[in-house]
Amino acid sequence: MASTARRKKKATPNVDPLVQKSQEIDRLRHFVDESTFSADERESTGEASAANQHPGDMADVVFERELMETTREILAEEATLAEEALKRKAAGQYGICAECEKPISKARLAARPQATLCIDCQRKLEQDGQHARAS
Ligand SMILES: [Zn+2]
Repeated sequence: MASTARRKKKATPNVDPLVQKSQEIDRLRHFVDESTFSADERESTGEASAANQHPGDMADVVFERELMETTREILAEEATLAEEALKRKAAGQYGICAECEKPISKARLAARPQATLCIDCQRKLEQDGQHARAS
């Protein structure tokens, strides 16, 4: 239909968006790992003079570390999802919800190529997760 005219021309037209996404996640994880390492280093070398520092500086370091931890956790989850999606693709089940087996919407897959659940099941999971998180 008319949509063919809107197709983007790229140098590498055959790159799978899912593969691309999983490579992007990998790159981000390396970046975060390196950043976290340098933050740790800075903290340990600054330990002796920590008493002379403004409390605000220490708070910044703590905040930065917490932020990095959170980012790492999110990226680890994303990487697991991407792996799962790649496996599903290999099995010919890509784009099918792992929970209810209905097709995942194209818009959702475009935004999140690593999605293995349809939006309904994802929402349900997130709601359940909030209750079950303590266990
Ligand atoms: Zn579903």
